[in-house]
Amino acid sequence: MSLIVVGSMAFDAIETPFGKSDKIVGGAATYIAWSASNFTQPINQISVVGGDFPQEELDALKARGVNLEGVQIKKDEKSFFWSGKYHMDMNTRDTIETQLNVLGTFQPVVPESFQNADFLMLGNLLPAVQMSVIEQMKVRPKLIVLDTMNFWMETAMPDLEKVLKHVDVLMVNDSEARQLSAQFSLVKAAKEIMKMGPKYLIIKKGEHGALLFHGDQVFFAPALPLEEVFDPTGAGDTFAGGFIGHIARTKDISFENMKTAIIVGSAMASFCVEKFGTLRLTEISKQDIDDRIQEFVQLVNFDIALV
Ligand code: AMP
Repeated sequence: MSLIVVGSMAFDAIETPFGKSDKIVGGAATYIAWSASNFTQPINQISVVGGDFPQEELDALKARGVNLEGVQIKKDEKSFFWSGKYHMDMNTRDTIETQLNVLGTFQPVVPESFQNADFLMLGNLLPAVQMSVIEQMKVRPKLIVLDTMNFWMETAMPDLEKVLKHVDVLMVNDSEARQLSAQFSLVKAAKEIMKMGPKYLIIKKGEHGALLFHGDQVFFAPALPLEEVFDPTGAGDTFAGGFIGHIARTKDISFENMKTAIIVGSAMASFCVEKFGTLRLTEISKQDIDDRIQEFVQLVNFDIALV
């Protein structure tokens, strides 16, 4: 029992310049599970859904090696719902609506069989819920990774500050890093954020790649230049799934291995954006992933003769 994933499982309604979806399955933990399960199984999932959440989606995740023992189903309530709209610059989006529904009162319970997990991926949801999962772990996992977003900085900052003290790696996007630290320079922002608790910080910059900070060290991973980006929703979570999936598979939490993990995360995210929702993640094979990682190697591989 090595990896626990916590996060929202949801319905999303998405509008991009290329199309519009009605309510489709989304949620941070859904994307993370689809992505991470390519590298390690089982995924021990902790989340909450309403009676409206499709049984077929739960069955598909189960078939993929996702253990749903920690997913509560509130039969008479509605699942978390989020809707967002992207503009031509797909790096920016507006949240149109966030309906917490079952997530608002969620009290997570860590099943006994999930205890002793080595890796804990706290995907996006209430910081108090993330904290509660950490508190329920009888043995601290070797690596705790946390993803969050501006919504929680605006509505639950004291809880977020509290949980940040207990995590090893924080993942945020560039605007969230600026908001959290009140610094415009991402280097200064990283320094401020690492004072809040996490020893490692990953700043995701959409089509401009991702930065990994640790002490005075910085590593940069590009995003694959794609001809078409159809829907960026879930790219950050898919990145997180690739990152933690690689770490859990290799059981190596060194900075060097985290560099590889963010390349794996970037490769996974590049699939996610190719179709609406989780669809593309359900189609890809191990060969597709290997080929895509090779494309990353080619993208950044060069010889240089110093004069
Ligand atoms: P990403 O594009 O990786 O930032 O994640 C998008 C996913 O996050 C969507 O599938 C949403 O359902 C989910 N999401 C959006 N807002 C929240 C929130 N406040 N808490 C938890 N999950 C959220």
